[in-house]
Amino acid sequence: MDTATSALPIAVIGAGPVGLAAAAHLLEQGLDPVIFEAGPTAGSAIEHWRHTRLFSPWRFNTDAAAVRLLEQTGWEHPRPTALPYGGELIDNYLTPLAATEPIASRLHTNARVIAVTRQGLDKTHSKNRDTTAFTVRVDHGNGEIRDHTVAAVIDASGTWSTRNPLGTSGLSAIGEEQAGARISSPLPDVTGRDREAFAGRRVLVVGAGHSAANTLINLNDLAKTEPTTRILWAVRGASAEKVYGGGDADGLPARGQLGSRLRRLVEAGTIELHTGYGISTIKTLNTGVTVEAVDGRTLEADVIVPCTGFRPDLDILRELRLNLDPAVEAPTELGPLIDPEFHSCGTVPPHGAKLLAHPEKDFYIVGMKSYGRAPTFLLATGYEQVRSVAAALAGDHEAADTVHLDLPETGVCSADIGASCDVPANTTPATEEQESQGCCSAPEPAFVGFPTGLAHGRPGQNQPN
Ligand SMILES: Cc1cc2nc3c(=O)[nH]c(=O)nc-3n(C[C@H](O)[C@H](O)[C@H](O)COP(=O)(O)OP(=O)(O)OC[C@H]3O[C@@H](n4cnc5c(N)ncnc54)[C@H](O)[C@@H]3O)c2cc1C
Repeated sequence: MDTATSALPIAVIGAGPVGLAAAAHLLEQGLDPVIFEAGPTAGSAIEHWRHTRLFSPWRFNTDAAAVRLLEQTGWEHPRPTALPYGGELIDNYLTPLAATEPIASRLHTNARVIAVTRQGLDKTHSKNRDTTAFTVRVDHGNGEIRDHTVAAVIDASGTWSTRNPLGTSGLSAIGEEQAGARISSPLPDVTGRDREAFAGRRVLVVGAGHSAANTLINLNDLAKTEPTTRILWAVRGASAEKVYGGGDADGLPARGQLGSRLRRLVEAGTIELHTGYGISTIKTLNTGVTVEAVDGRTLEADVIVPCTGFRPDLDILRELRLNLDPAVEAPTELGPLIDPEFHSCGTVPPHGAKLLAHPEKDFYIVGMKSYGRAPTFLLATGYEQVRSVAAALAGDHEAADTVHLDLPETGVCSADIGASCDVPANTTPATEEQESQGCCSAPEPAFVGFPTGLAHGRPGQNQPN
């Protein structure tokens, strides 16, 4: 950072696991974070899926600097091998982390960032750009909008609030907006807090990823006590094979079991699967919705669950100079490593500040949002991102460029476990340049199981869209 701005705080957008980890690393570097969180509490996006179990165990879900901060308060790390629910990640990790004094005193909740720019400079102005402070415009609620002046910005705002549309070609289906009241959130708690909206209804789940799989299994549980519940499942691809995953051979047993169960439910006819179903139109009627496919088939439903994936909200970054991959909308150098059209890999080599940099100096997109439209993000990857970014902002370029490989041995993306990019074949730290040579070098690995971190959408298969 420039000496002219170095006395200013560093804005972190979003108090999800990666935003809070970024704050912890900045504090360790002697820097001063200010965290803006749109929701009422830390982990507000995860609140929406608190009923869903993570597929990576605790030891990969906590950040080292955050743990160091927490341990000062007597906090104890949850059992490393246990798989937490989203709610447990919040209650046992994010909430206590947000309550530590150094974080709590810097965290603004109900504070939605609506724009980021350089103070006094729009995107077209180059003069002194790199040494000019950033302005972060924040909606603090109740009509209060304030501009905050900061030295650097780390955007860890995730992608939860911008789901992909139900229609094909990246656009909303005709009538999708009007059908809003019939479309649920992407991962509803169908057996818990959202039960009312699903019990005894015709439910259409759209999508071919982890969220769809989870929702379908939960709907089946609901149907056991509410037998008039009808479960429909529409996928764009020609089959759901890849959602079923590796079954017993899957490197992550919990995920393998989920896929096997789903397959059995479809084969038994409990879940009515419609393949090759690209949605063109949604007609809202008094009695429900008619969902029409491009080829003219129709499905009637009371409620639609959109498990279609997410995309980053780039609107707030409109005045910044970004370098984004044209397909994936991740930082340019990262994009090809995670493009789901070519990678069914669960993860990519660890990477840091260098790979995540934009022409806009001292601005970084990290966490889920850094993967743009690719669905394979892992918390462990995000924690390494923010360690490196904090080091870079502190001027420790050696630490920033030395990225550490510490990822789960899932073998999720390769039949040849030894060649899988998920497997830390070499656990010695590597330079970012070495790592950016790419994971999953040719030949393309065969897919086993859900890609790690695949929350939604495109499971690494070529689907018409
Ligand atoms: C169902 C599901 C299961 C998953 N399971 C795993 C798993 O097992 N292992 C794994 O490693 N990963 C998993 N992931 C992927 C990923 O790790 C999570 O999505 C994780 O929450 C990403 O963390 P994040 O901090 O980048 O983003 P988020 O958790 O989405 O946090 C972003 C925060 O930013 C806030 N925000 C958004 N916009 C603004 C704004 N404009 N201004 C201010 N604040 C804003 C949000 O309210 C939110 O609190 C899973 C994802 C999902 C959806």
